[in-house]
Amino acid sequence: MKMTVFSTHQFEKPYLESANNDTHELKLLEVRLSENTVSLAQHAEAVCLFTGDDASAPVLEKLKDLGVAYIALRSAGFNHVDIKRANELGLKVARVPAYSPYAVAEHVLALILGLNRKLTRAHNRVREQNFSLNGLIGFDMNGKTAGIIGTGKIGAVLTKILHGFGCKILAYDVEKDEKLVKDYGVQYTDCKTLCSKSDIISLHIPLTSETKHLIDDDHIALMKKGVMLINTSRGGLVDTKAVIEGLKTGRIGYFGMDVYEEEEGLFFEDRSDEILQDDVIARLMTFNNVLITSHQAFLTDTALTNIAETTIYNLDCFEKGKNSENEVF
Ligand code: NAD
Repeated sequence: MKMTVFSTHQFEKPYLESANNDTHELKLLEVRLSENTVSLAQHAEAVCLFTGDDASAPVLEKLKDLGVAYIALRSAGFNHVDIKRANELGLKVARVPAYSPYAVAEHVLALILGLNRKLTRAHNRVREQNFSLNGLIGFDMNGKTAGIIGTGKIGAVLTKILHGFGCKILAYDVEKDEKLVKDYGVQYTDCKTLCSKSDIISLHIPLTSETKHLIDDDHIALMKKGVMLINTSRGGLVDTKAVIEGLKTGRIGYFGMDVYEEEEGLFFEDRSDEILQDDVIARLMTFNNVLITSHQAFLTDTALTNIAETTIYNLDCFEKGKNSENEVF
């Protein structure tokens, strides 16, 4: 099959090529799919998209006109695709539902420990031959309460990790995972109670119209003073301006983010020669208790292998006219 792959990053090319093993004709493009670039899918039966690609209704309509019939997402999240319109147009969409919950959960831990033990500040100081410890006091994780919002695949792995650190786990999810209750003593509660009782809060629910800006002024006001908030799920789950206010008042004591509301068109590229136009992320960068990574939580060798293999498997199934179980409706 002919598949145009949009937003191909250098780091994933070898994984895609190896998983494909010359089976399909892949056109690997670095450009992002948008109304301006959609014509590059001409002659392709399928397109392959990443999280920053624009698969809104007008783009999908143009893909359909070009003869594209299949959309293979190299991500678990599909909030960047107008699924309703895709279904109406008869475009099949498949994703990679699980490639490594460990990759993301372990990155959460990196953010938690990096913030708690002030690793960036400490590292920068030592490089300047400043060996002072003032201002570097952290806290014991043991005995703290961690609030996990979303106990699906990633939230469940994080639960296990934080339980190992001696944390008490509170959780909020529309579905209770009884195994987590039994094995790790997880206590399910509502989102507001979780916010008011947790020392560390980590988000692991999908972004939907229902969950957009779940963490807003009202939820932040309920949080313990000095709380640590971690978002590796989707930027839109938090109202970033409310988080900035929370950081300014000290209500939020630490903020770790791997995803950002306005990350499309900003993340995944080297922009070190450009003038940063986004004043919100610029403000976030000024806080020394904020740790930002640019959507790299998934970035492990295992996850990249699984993403590439599942993507090619999805395409194989489409070619054979059968469902891969990874279709999104
Ligand atoms: P999952 O589907 O296994 O778990 C999601 C959980 O959220 C489920 O338990 C579900 O019941 C719960 N949920 C859904 N809607 C809810 C709501 N309105 N209120 C409360 N709970 C709700 O997903 P996962 O694999 O654990 O991934 C979670 C999220 O992580 C994804 O949606 C994606 O946005 C994000 N993600 C980020 C990266 C990264 O690199 N930063 C990588 C992979 C996934």
